Amino acid sequence: MAEFWHKQIERADHLARESSGSMELLTFYAQLLRAQEQIYESLRSRREWLPSGDLESDLPVVQPLTTGLLETVARHGPASLAEEAQVFLASAPDVMARELLDHWRSPTDTQFFAKSILQPYARWLAETGTPPAGRELAGGERSCPFCGGKPQVSFLQSKERNAESGNRDLLCASCLCSWEFRRVVCANCGEERPAKLGYFQSPEFDYVRIEACDSCKHYIKGIDLTRFGHAVPLVDEIYSAPLDLWAREHGYKKIELNLVGV
Ligand SMILES: [Zn+2]
Ligand SMILES: [Zn+2]
Repeated sequence: MAEFWHKQIERADHLARESSGSMELLTFYAQLLRAQEQIYESLRSRREWLPSGDLESDLPVVQPLTTGLLETVARHGPASLAEEAQVFLASAPDVMARELLDHWRSPTDTQFFAKSILQPYARWLAETGTPPAGRELAGGERSCPFCGGKPQVSFLQSKERNAESGNRDLLCASCLCSWEFRRVVCANCGEERPAKLGYFQSPEFDYVRIEACDSCKHYIKGIDLTRFGHAVPLVDEIYSAPLDLWAREHGYKKIELNLVGV
């Protein structure tokens, strides 16, 4: 599904041209998506090779692909990430290997490079139906049924033509696949009592909302595709960065930071 990447890139380019507070973030994200697409395309077009799902055995194929992404970040990234990219580019290959394996076993949203590099790999696993191996993840309905990753963003869409309000899906931060999820439930702790769940919006982004939980004090952003069908959840989630500021100021912690660190 090369189309997936095109869709994200096109939307990021489009939103980066709008003069908004998130312009710099989106300009960088559009370049990052291109580097991720290249990793994905290299994996997909590799002759007589399919991933094993065990990153350690796939590393000889995956690792050489990291250079392009590191160079992109060194060129287009914010100063601190650009510096970090230079350090990785200059370091021995086993430094990045360790970073990737650590993240694969136990992902965190603060390992920017490993997360960006492994998203296209994990997505290729999903598309080839190769179950991931060697991950220590909790599982359960609040994690991705394919890879066990945490949700990056939630979105509403109408699956049946006559549906009034739409179904809710969560999009995985690790493999970028989505899964269906109940509407009125915290995606972090499973809280179901409506009095504990709050939704916050601003007129500037009327199709995006903060879905916050007062039991665990976490939040995720929700993109309502039934209100605005041109949105692309992963990208519009970044575009609406000012809402994250609001959420943090009100004491909520994001379930999973996005790739631009918001
Ligand atoms: Zn996943
Ligand atoms: Zn919660």
